[in-house]
Amino acid sequence: MKKRLCFVLAAVFVFMLANTAVYADNDIKKISCGEDFVLILKTNGDLYSFGKNDRGQLGTGDEVDYDTPVKIMSNINDISCGYKHSLVLNKDKKLYGFGDNSLYQLGIANSDSQRKPVEIMTDVEECRAAGFHSFALKKNGNLYGFGNNLFSQLAFSARTEYKKPLLIMQNVSKIESGFITSVIKKSDGSFFVFGKESTKKFIDNKPIRLEKDILDATINQNDDLYFIDKSKSLYKMSKNNKADTLSFHKKDLLAKNISLGESSIYQELNLNLKNELSTKSIYQALASSLNKDYTWLRYKELIDFDKPDHKKSAEREKIFDFLKKEMKSHRYKKEDKLIAITFDDGPSTYTDSLLNDLNRYKARASFFVLGKNAKAYPDALKKIVCSGHEIANHSFSHPNLARYSNNNVLSQIDTTDNIVHQYTGENISLFRPPYGSYNKNTLSLLKNRKKAVIMWSVDTLDWKHKNATYVKNYILNHAKDGDIVLLHDIHKTTVDGFKQALPILIDRGFKLVTVSELMDLRSINKEYGNVYFKLK
Ligand SMILES: [Zn+2]
Repeated sequence: MKKRLCFVLAAVFVFMLANTAVYADNDIKKISCGEDFVLILKTNGDLYSFGKNDRGQLGTGDEVDYDTPVKIMSNINDISCGYKHSLVLNKDKKLYGFGDNSLYQLGIANSDSQRKPVEIMTDVEECRAAGFHSFALKKNGNLYGFGNNLFSQLAFSARTEYKKPLLIMQNVSKIESGFITSVIKKSDGSFFVFGKESTKKFIDNKPIRLEKDILDATINQNDDLYFIDKSKSLYKMSKNNKADTLSFHKKDLLAKNISLGESSIYQELNLNLKNELSTKSIYQALASSLNKDYTWLRYKELIDFDKPDHKKSAEREKIFDFLKKEMKSHRYKKEDKLIAITFDDGPSTYTDSLLNDLNRYKARASFFVLGKNAKAYPDALKKIVCSGHEIANHSFSHPNLARYSNNNVLSQIDTTDNIVHQYTGENISLFRPPYGSYNKNTLSLLKNRKKAVIMWSVDTLDWKHKNATYVKNYILNHAKDGDIVLLHDIHKTTVDGFKQALPILIDRGFKLVTVSELMDLRSINKEYGNVYFKLK
């Protein structure tokens, strides 16, 4: 259950590129996203929605075209979206809600008409939606909460009424919410946190005071808590720490000597962490999102490629390059147990299900495709790119290049490059010669075509044995950090065997990355015409 924030941001992004005339940067005050819907607040107070929240076009109650923005309200001052619900604060400080905060119409205790805005409270200063719960902060500092943070009524350790706002705390000056967890700042400068998913689920629903020396705290969509203490050090405590208490025994120091409000690190964090994003920070947020969000972004992009009138804008290219770079650097560390799984000779009829398994485990691989098969399986080709895997060139028809003329070698390289680019927009920088056969001449031609040559360090001989159990065992018995593993996704036995090995590899702590990612993480320069066997 993860908030697909950027799934939606991607939609906004693609949409905005296509509609820049209507939604210029300075025209938009705020964008907020839920699971699969978006609210766009314009500076003039007009509120638009697009996407759906479960049961219809967001905010209209109708089954209309979800991809077209619809004006749903005006005179609006602020917005905030949760997983399936939205909060809207108008200029007269009236709080409206719509959508479903897990059980009922938000704040109303009634399952009717989840899509249309309903007035919930008055005199509201600030509103904030988390995953399945909401906050309303009044001018007098009274903080109200409603909805549930997974297990019980927000901030109460009991399954009481989820739907009606309850007074949680007084003298509150600021509220920040993640998906389940929230941070409260009181006017005396003290900080409280509650709702953390840990071993003490029910107890955690009650606000717990943070260490005394906290200067500021904020939280992201993954419930990672960031705080700055009085010595100006920035810490992160993630949900995975599974701390029994919230006293930060396991805090990770991110940065020292930062100055609040001026530090670029903290400002950047703040940008990325907010539920709501300015259009300018959307790119940043996309970059810090998860693999699958990137997947969706690419998917939209590739759909566009099918349209004959598609024109790739330089801006868009720039952003994708930026995203790709960011994705790589954020995922893993160079000290991790990294491995590059490579699949040759495909795509094939088995590639799709292989990708499903890879994606399920957030594992990445490199596909050294044959041009002729890329042409035969364009959907698989697109899915490889969509899912954040790498496409590399393995010639068009698998000849022994060492015996080919220059022109024929170049044609084998170029044809495959062109097919891949035509279907995915990707530019290939890696090549693996068929049979691993090359000579000095081949390498100079590959250098000319800006390709690094990737061989392997683990040869499974999967094509020879054609036995799933053999493939599984071979991988598990031989895979080491920095290895490049050679497999072929044109054999069902290979795909089956790899699928069996995959969860065990993950369990053993391996991070499956693409060849290029591995090179980046290990600071190995990608030199064209150079040959690489392992990446340690
Ligand atoms: Zn091959």
